[in-house]
Amino acid sequence: MPDKSPVLSRRHLIKALGATMGIYVSRVRPQERADTAPSATPTISVDPNSPRATLLGFVTDHQQADQVRWQKKRGDVDGKQQCQSCALFNPTDANVGTCAIFDDRQVPAAGWCHAWTES
Ligand code: SF4
Repeated sequence: MPDKSPVLSRRHLIKALGATMGIYVSRVRPQERADTAPSATPTISVDPNSPRATLLGFVTDHQQADQVRWQKKRGDVDGKQQCQSCALFNPTDANVGTCAIFDDRQVPAAGWCHAWTES
């Protein structure tokens, strides 16, 4: 009768290795995913050249707003109209925040667009 113990041993080794790797993957992968998962804070900034931004005259510096085109900003002689004073602005840092008009993308605190609403 041939001795099959080396084959069984190899099979057992492969099974044991597979089981060990499975445990490793199931225990380590969630942690890795947690470390690399995108944060809840959006990091995408509004592109001033995007169609919506262009339509609303969005600028990253409120002083660069086209006051000929936007009468609303023309009347803002004291520079009060900035993202940081807008009701739609949600501050996330000292100089940035998110804007509901732009799908919660980042806008600078000193930005402006025609949708500015007094808070
Ligand atoms: S809606 Fe308000 S916060 Fe959003 S870009 Fe315009 S001025 Fe800034």
